Amino acid sequence: MTMTVQLQKLKMLIGGEWKDGSGGQSFSILDPSNNQIIAEVPRATKDDASHAVESAKTAFQSTEWRDMDSAKRGRILTKLTGLVRESSDELARLETLNEGKTLRESKGDVAWAARAFEYFAGLADKIEGSTIPVPPKRLDYTLREPLGVTLHIVPWNYPIALAARSLAPALAAGDTVVMKPSETTPLTALKLGELASKAGVPKGVVNVITGSGAEVGTHLVSHRDIDGIIFTGSNETGKHVMEAAAKNVTHVLMELGGKNPHIVFSDADVPRAIKAVKDGIFTNAGQMCWAGSRAFIHESIYDGFARELVDKTSRMKLGPGIDESTEMGPAVSRSRQETILAYIKDGVEEGAKLLCGGEKPSDSNLGKGNFVEPTIFGEVTGEMKIGCDEIFGPVLSITKFKTVDEVVSLANESDYGLYGGVWTSNLKTAHEVASRLEVGGVAINEYLVTFPQTPFGGYKDSGIGHENGIRAMEYYTRTKNVSINLG
Ligand code: NDP
Repeated sequence: MTMTVQLQKLKMLIGGEWKDGSGGQSFSILDPSNNQIIAEVPRATKDDASHAVESAKTAFQSTEWRDMDSAKRGRILTKLTGLVRESSDELARLETLNEGKTLRESKGDVAWAARAFEYFAGLADKIEGSTIPVPPKRLDYTLREPLGVTLHIVPWNYPIALAARSLAPALAAGDTVVMKPSETTPLTALKLGELASKAGVPKGVVNVITGSGAEVGTHLVSHRDIDGIIFTGSNETGKHVMEAAAKNVTHVLMELGGKNPHIVFSDADVPRAIKAVKDGIFTNAGQMCWAGSRAFIHESIYDGFARELVDKTSRMKLGPGIDESTEMGPAVSRSRQETILAYIKDGVEEGAKLLCGGEKPSDSNLGKGNFVEPTIFGEVTGEMKIGCDEIFGPVLSITKFKTVDEVVSLANESDYGLYGGVWTSNLKTAHEVASRLEVGGVAINEYLVTFPQTPFGGYKDSGIGHENGIRAMEYYTRTKNVSINLG
């Protein structure tokens, strides 16, 4: 399917105004299915970034937003929810053209983003402190106050969903926001900025800066006037961000990578488990923090499971995400495609058994895009690069296991601890394995499921703190204790 794309020349949002970069430069945004330019966005300078922080600080200090009746803040978020829903076709199309994922996935992400605004709209007037029993003739209570100026660094793999995941609670709490989407995929974040203004969010409360992580990101994370950083991205960058934050004692919320185990016991609903293992890695071409990249299959069902999984995977239809018949889109960029192919080569050289895929697709129509065949390896060990690194691409390893102890130990071998899946019809096994996995989230008899109301966060190297749910508000607010002597 071909389609004509109108080149968009966009501006970024600073202090309620749409602006070009002060250095007069812009950069091109590409469609990963063919590497054609679909938009030009301003290349923010450090001055632009500082200006965005100043705007957010002024908006926070003006008190219009943070001292607004919280029910009214909630109503503005409700309006934003409606605007996101009304724009969902446009947002989904933008997301697919920019990130490469299928339109069906983008529609799901936009629906998820709308739900996040809806959920936190309802929470805005329910952020409560407590009264604490203390010795007589005293009253002690806590206030939950907004955290302040928050910096949101968003990766390219779920641009709108992850922008909404942090924007919604920040706005509900009364914080102000500087958002830096990935330079690869800024389109839907810019659109969200526009919709937030339309919904009645005051000027300067939401600022969206387009620029590179290396330049603008580094500057922003070291900025003295940032009160909290919400970082979603790789562990390597996350560590730099934490170092910069440490210098200013800035709060951090870290949502990092994963190398997630997906475990199938012999008593599982096998057809559903096969589909889930396949979708759990090949959705978004495997570019997911929570991708089930290590599948462990009980030895008694392994052969048939592997045969069918490989067969279904080999028949997946690759193509531009915008084409409704596509089952898997491209990698987000040429460099990502090269990294994934290099991992596959390493896997073969280290002795893993390639069961399917492993190349760029032979279809010449796909040659201009960043496609990689969905790939499955057997005989992968935890010492191999492909067994321990987060590949962040459509590459699955499948391994046999015999016992619960063995599979728990294999699953926990990783330094990451983000997410895991368990397939069994035995409740006892499900509970036992869920409690023994060293991960922040476990899905039983389904995979890739998260709601705005359920906490999401990593154990071990996968992060610090939680997004989503009431617990997220612990990060987006500060607690002040007030003690009164009544004697
Ligand atoms: P990166 O760490 O490369 O980038 C993440 C964000 O950080 C981007 O906006 C990037 O900007 C910015 N950035 C890059 N360098 C710096 C810097 N020095 N200072 C400040 N900001 C910087 O990760 P990817 O974009 O490649 O995202 C993939 C990673 O994100 C994977 O590891 C994945 O597991 C993780 N992730 C975690 C999730 C979770 O909830 N736990 C959810 C989704 C992804 P730019 O792109 O413009 O350089």
